Amino acid sequence: EDVGHLAVTVQKDKLLGGLLPSGFDERSCLSRHESVLYHKELRQKPSSYLISRLRSYEALHKQCGPHTVLYNRSVELIKSGQYRGSADCNYLVWISYSGLGNRILTLASAFLYALLTNRVLLADPGVNMRDLFCEPFPEVSWLLPPDFPIFNHFSTFNQKSPHCYGYMVKHDIIGNSTVSVLPPFVYLHLAHDYDDQDKLFFCDQDQSLLQKIPWLVMRTDNYFVPFLFLIPSFEQELSNLFPEKEMIFHFLSRYLFHPTNSVWGLVMRYYQAYLAQADEKLGIQIRVFDTSVGPFKYVLDQISACMMKENLLPQIKQGEPIVNPSRKQKTIAVLITSLSHGYFEEFRNMYWEHPTVTGDIIGVYQPSKEAHQQTEKLMHDRKALAEMYLLSLTDKLVTSAWSTFGYVAHGLGGLKPWILYKRENRTAHNPPCARAASLEPCFHAPPYYDCKKKTGTDTSKIVPHVRHCEDVSWGLKLF
Ligand code: GDP
Repeated sequence: EDVGHLAVTVQKDKLLGGLLPSGFDERSCLSRHESVLYHKELRQKPSSYLISRLRSYEALHKQCGPHTVLYNRSVELIKSGQYRGSADCNYLVWISYSGLGNRILTLASAFLYALLTNRVLLADPGVNMRDLFCEPFPEVSWLLPPDFPIFNHFSTFNQKSPHCYGYMVKHDIIGNSTVSVLPPFVYLHLAHDYDDQDKLFFCDQDQSLLQKIPWLVMRTDNYFVPFLFLIPSFEQELSNLFPEKEMIFHFLSRYLFHPTNSVWGLVMRYYQAYLAQADEKLGIQIRVFDTSVGPFKYVLDQISACMMKENLLPQIKQGEPIVNPSRKQKTIAVLITSLSHGYFEEFRNMYWEHPTVTGDIIGVYQPSKEAHQQTEKLMHDRKALAEMYLLSLTDKLVTSAWSTFGYVAHGLGGLKPWILYKRENRTAHNPPCARAASLEPCFHAPPYYDCKKKTGTDTSKIVPHVRHCEDVSWGLKLF
């Protein structure tokens, strides 16, 4: 009977209330339709407007995507080097850059920007992207084909490249009314080290110029979605798409990022073996931005203090276990992710060596201990994605400040995390942690510029729903 009930729910919610398109072959990407069995329900229903815009995006993608007639024609523009007039299809090329958490956030940002500007998003497969994620759009790939003409130049694109938008503005090559011929492509440098001219990307005036350029090639390691709300020409469309502003990454990540079967295997085997049976699941993501791997005592102390203060785990008790517990004992599975194994060992031993005051049974698990970031290795990236995903399947989640790895986990899961504040000079932070007020990731390096007045300004004061982040005081986040 249970199975029958399950089948009905799957039938009903497989497409996440219309967020996902139908018609995919299920076996080639099991996570796309199976994840609904493990995730909590979407925090809210996606707006019908968002759903209709996604369907029309998919149609556009099919029409203009790799190796279509229109794509081939647009690629010719790049080869010819110049163009006048308008192109049939316009594109946004996302360059694969930085750690996996960063890549997921920037790809979601790029997709939203493409949606707002009627561009087709093409993703540089970079290292591993093809092996990590299924195709999100039906029929036509989102991956940039290897014969794309300027593929080999991606690694050399920087702020000093003649094709860089900021560089062109600086040297009056673009944006000047006397220049009538536009380049067929522009490189947008939106990485953390971008300068004042690169940041003009976020101004309406520059947007109307960029709109005329068929190919935009973007490199970023930032979740820039909050700033799209500060560009007046996008504002109305954004509120139509997302009446609830803090749902943006939650929806986009569930729409775009479906782990491939190899990653899904890692997720499912671990989940079934260690987490599925527990009454409660608690995730703890430990990311320490330090030159050595650790473990560090101050980090351990901070996590323990957070657990106790926020009542996330029961305290331990010295001496004998409770003989006749008055209520049924719960089992709590604690899923720890960290590059170091030290924190896991401490917690596991603590809850093995001592009973808890409530009598609850605590199991502590950590899938990998990779020691260092090794983005170029396939199995390393697979494990990183599997762990972000596993964290998103927990009931309560504790994440580390500043970490995009943690943002992805809580955003996917629709979980408001407890954030472990970043420690300064290896000393504990007080309070150790606090509950996040919004589900959205933080934009770590936003501009502080008022495009209209052409002066510096505190961009957290412009609209009520874009404010500073809890974990990065100068960052911006949607609430
Ligand atoms: P951020 O640096 O925390 O913002 O997150 P990123 O995901 O962009 O980059 C950190 C990278 O380090 C990850 O992509 C992984 O490759 C690795 N990493 C960091 N923490 C963990 C972890 O807990 N588990 C695993 N498997 N890898 C991790």
